[in-house]
Amino acid sequence: MNYSKNFSFAFVILFSIFNTITDAYSQRTIRTKTTTKKTRFTTPTDIQSPNHCYLYPPGVDACQLVEDANFQDKDGDSPYIVENANGGNYVIAAPHGRFDEGTRAIVEGVDSANEMAWKSLSFNGFRRESLYFNVNRPTLYLVNNNPNIADHEEEQVDSDAKKVYNCYVNHIKGLVPFNSLEWYVEIHGNAKASRAGFLDIATHEGMSEQDAEDIQEIFQNALDAEGVGLTVAMEHTDDDPHFHGQAAREFGIFCVLENANVPFLHIEIPSAYRKNNQVANRNKMIDALSAALAQVKAANLID
Ligand SMILES: [Zn+2]
Repeated sequence: MNYSKNFSFAFVILFSIFNTITDAYSQRTIRTKTTTKKTRFTTPTDIQSPNHCYLYPPGVDACQLVEDANFQDKDGDSPYIVENANGGNYVIAAPHGRFDEGTRAIVEGVDSANEMAWKSLSFNGFRRESLYFNVNRPTLYLVNNNPNIADHEEEQVDSDAKKVYNCYVNHIKGLVPFNSLEWYVEIHGNAKASRAGFLDIATHEGMSEQDAEDIQEIFQNALDAEGVGLTVAMEHTDDDPHFHGQAAREFGIFCVLENANVPFLHIEIPSAYRKNNQVANRNKMIDALSAALAQVKAANLID
């Protein structure tokens, strides 16, 4: 009996079985990747939000409640809302239009510059010293009236903050009902020194990595074309993500949009490309965002 020959034969059999299994596995892996390449955003019925999104029942006029509350900061100034309802089924918004300096100008600039016009919305002065609503979620910060609180652990759900948040949601729905809203883009300002070289973008958790990479490339090319010296960092692909919208995702506007299958982008712009003493850079940013957002829509990422 030749053990070594039998052993070799058995080894060949085992090896071919192993190859068959691994081939089948890699085939399946490839097929899975192909079928998940495009995430389908189905047309939603208008939202019936779970409680954790903190929406009022239908029929409650949150903006009337905000008006009745007559919120003022310590100088007696009232916050204000600006919207432009001209455009398609696309909304670009700045929930901290004053505090995130320059973001109101950016959403209005993109709105007017873009051929496939975006409807724009800014909530201004709801987040400022002594009046610190988060607007895109039903919370506020309450730490000695200190506006410089960056730690979202300190956030508190609050009855007044719910009014402001629900008014914000109602404005978005008023511009485009959620069952018709094709894209929602939220613009924020980032003052962190460590993020000064980045345009930080987060999107729908259900979006495929491939689509997220496509979006990253679109934005990077648009920034490069306008001479904006920033690197696009996507939450989907970044090993060290810097998405600061987590609270809004858990119980704010992104919670609502995820449930409604509305795709969104959450964009944070560093100071050098948005502040009032950086108008030339801000205009480059507006041109880059206008070009990129038109391409995101044209890329037909939504089936
Ligand atoms: Zn912000």
